[in-house]
Amino acid sequence: MHSSSSPDDGDPAKQFFLRFSLSLFIVLALLTFSCNNKESKKDTTALPAIDSTLIRQQQQKAADSVAKAAVLKKKIYITFDDGPNKGTRNVLAAVKEENIAASFFIVGEHIFDSPRQKETWEILKSDSTVELCNHSYTHAHNKYTSFYEQPGKVVEDFKQAQKTGGFTNNIARMPGRNAWRIDSIEHTDIYESKAAIDSLHQAGFAIMGWDIEWMFDHKTLAVDTATSLLLRRIDNMLAAGKTKKPGHLVLLAHDQAFQKTEDIEKLHFVIQQLKNNPDYELLFASKYPGIKKDLP
Ligand SMILES: [Zn+2]
Repeated sequence: MHSSSSPDDGDPAKQFFLRFSLSLFIVLALLTFSCNNKESKKDTTALPAIDSTLIRQQQQKAADSVAKAAVLKKKIYITFDDGPNKGTRNVLAAVKEENIAASFFIVGEHIFDSPRQKETWEILKSDSTVELCNHSYTHAHNKYTSFYEQPGKVVEDFKQAQKTGGFTNNIARMPGRNAWRIDSIEHTDIYESKAAIDSLHQAGFAIMGWDIEWMFDHKTLAVDTATSLLLRRIDNMLAAGKTKKPGHLVLLAHDQAFQKTEDIEKLHFVIQQLKNNPDYELLFASKYPGIKKDLP
């Protein structure tokens, strides 16, 4: 009968080879284990404590320079006036697509001008990524001189807008006037309006004007095409410290100037240039220094 053979009963050369292989395997295994062991010891104990301190120091240094860069960045507050109107949804879509902070200065009466404007208002109101501020109820019906002659009525007008809009901040912008009352900043562009603006400020509103306006043609509603010039003026004003508060610039644009595709494209371009500039940071109006959000 054929019997199966075990490895032990082969020829001596084969046995020697098998034993040699086994010994070699054990030696190699031991060597590997001792090497690994040394390394793992090195990981936990051999590395001096100074290395983790160094890493911490380097991390702190990096965090400090990031914080310092943020402080050094110049702040730009992009604001859009007079909505809700025909351009508002385009502006909203653009600022959301570009993922930037933008503030809309709302005219109370415009909410009720048409069902579509009411709908636009509802969209704006339910969007937590934008900031809404008070730009009066009537916008003086564009009759500024007589409007500002009656300070009491001006205050009532803004209070009505505040109630209608349910704004969560106290920031107001005067219709047809570039006036400021924020902290120590006080500026009146047309002296005859001073009493009304002071009254509004005393009623608890922070009044924000603008440092630079992106102009548009009031007949065709097309936005000024000289975007490079606008951007250069922004750079120059900030560099020269010529804004109301050095290092901070309020840009005024108007919703209604962004109705045509080419104008909306220009809006994207300007936003991109500003947001991609490492020296700038785009913020909501309520982040302007000295704005206290106490509601009137
Ligand atoms: Zn306006």
